[in-house]
Amino acid sequence: MKKVAVLGAGVMGLACAYELLKRGYQVDIYEADDRVGGMSAHFDFNGMSIERYYHFICKTDHDLFAYLAEFGISDKLHWVDTRMGYFYDGKLYKWGTPPALLSFPKLDLISKLRYAVHAFISTKRRDWSGLDKKEASQWIRKWIGDRAYKVLWEKLFALKFYGYKDNLSAAWIWTRIRRIGLSRRSLMHEQLGYIEGGSETLLACFQTAIGRLGGRIHLGLPVEKVIIEQQKVIGVKTRQAEENYDIVVSTVPLPFVSRLIPSLADEQREQYNNISNIAVVCVIFKLKRPLTENFWLNINDERMQIPGLIEFSNLRPLDAHIVYVPYYLPQQHPKFKLSDEQFKAEAKSYLQMIKADFGSEDIIDMHVSRYRFAQPICPPGFLENLPPIQNTIKNLYIADTSYYYPEDRSITESVKLGKKIANLIQA
Ligand SMILES: Cc1cc2nc3c(=O)[nH]c(=O)nc-3n(C[C@H](O)[C@H](O)[C@H](O)COP(=O)(O)OP(=O)(O)OC[C@H]3O[C@@H](n4cnc5c(N)ncnc54)[C@H](O)[C@@H]3O)c2cc1C
Repeated sequence: MKKVAVLGAGVMGLACAYELLKRGYQVDIYEADDRVGGMSAHFDFNGMSIERYYHFICKTDHDLFAYLAEFGISDKLHWVDTRMGYFYDGKLYKWGTPPALLSFPKLDLISKLRYAVHAFISTKRRDWSGLDKKEASQWIRKWIGDRAYKVLWEKLFALKFYGYKDNLSAAWIWTRIRRIGLSRRSLMHEQLGYIEGGSETLLACFQTAIGRLGGRIHLGLPVEKVIIEQQKVIGVKTRQAEENYDIVVSTVPLPFVSRLIPSLADEQREQYNNISNIAVVCVIFKLKRPLTENFWLNINDERMQIPGLIEFSNLRPLDAHIVYVPYYLPQQHPKFKLSDEQFKAEAKSYLQMIKADFGSEDIIDMHVSRYRFAQPICPPGFLENLPPIQNTIKNLYIADTSYYYPEDRSITESVKLGKKIANLIQA
């Protein structure tokens, strides 16, 4: 029985470990955090268990559905007709349907038609190879024109990608448009999904299944080093011990990899180190009453430094109204250093801008979650510059969310890749 160490108990590490256990491997998972789940983990929001970062499910998330079926919990997946809004220059507009687009007063008819055609063609496109080397903002501009780009995309790119905004892969942006565009019941109705109990329900199933198959999950125990001898994996080092393993799988964010595996080839270290990541600071509000009727609210307003907010309880029914206000920031950005209290105060002022009669008395509680590696930045041709998952060091496998480019980070893609790595190992 071969012994495998999996680094990271996010959904990718959990899926990989589970698949390896099913194939007869002996598996230990090491997780730095005090809980499983990584980006999809929950926290206790004063008596309410909820994700640290909002999570919705789309109709194309087939690999996630397969695990829900395998765990016998497909009935816990629910679909909701969600609404989208657009807060533009101090006014809230409906968004996300043909009538909403047609009645939006800030664009001329031709721009609107071009925008609609681009969105429609994006949902029909299957092949991404033609977009891989294209730059996203130019690709969008070509389809919808400068005016529509300025009104609908420019601020979103600036506040989500900052200095990287003019060097993003069109294929990477296209998969996002497509995933959301295909999550509809009809042309008029967007439909998004949630799991009863949240992502925690899925995480608990993985944990139980891994335990049942004899796998061990070590929480609060980061791997400090992967031990390599003569270009072959021989084990891992934690603060507690050095443990021998035949195979090591790393699913931790790539920026950690060079430090964890000092014996990597110089060229590979450089490739991992060259990947830029955007961090997220997410302010979460628990409110007494709804802010709007929307799940997703796009924002384009000079006073506000966020691209949008997510009123999560308009998707998943909860005991209180929950709003996530995400600030995506490069880690080096001076704003990332602001305190949680400063972020809370700023986000609260935004809610007041959106709803004039919103006040402190509406707030039950607030929380701030931060993750330094929320999003790898994918420039054109991104995949070409990544080393293969199966490393040149024998029995070493390295991946993170970057490896499902051009798909955006998601639970479904992470579990799919976790399973793919298990298949690679078995092969
Ligand atoms: C703001 C935000 C919103 C999102 N919204 C959605 C959504 O709506 N729908 C959706 O499907 N997905 C969404 N996602 C993405 C989804 O959460 C991720 O794609 C998925 O959870 C990634 O899982 P992973 O296991 O690949 O990586 P991670 O979750 O990053 O897991 C990596 C793990 O490695 C651990 N680790 C780090 N260093 C070490 C070490 N030295 N030793 C051991 N362990 C270590 C980390 O603690 C972490 O638990 C969102 C993510 C964010 C941040």
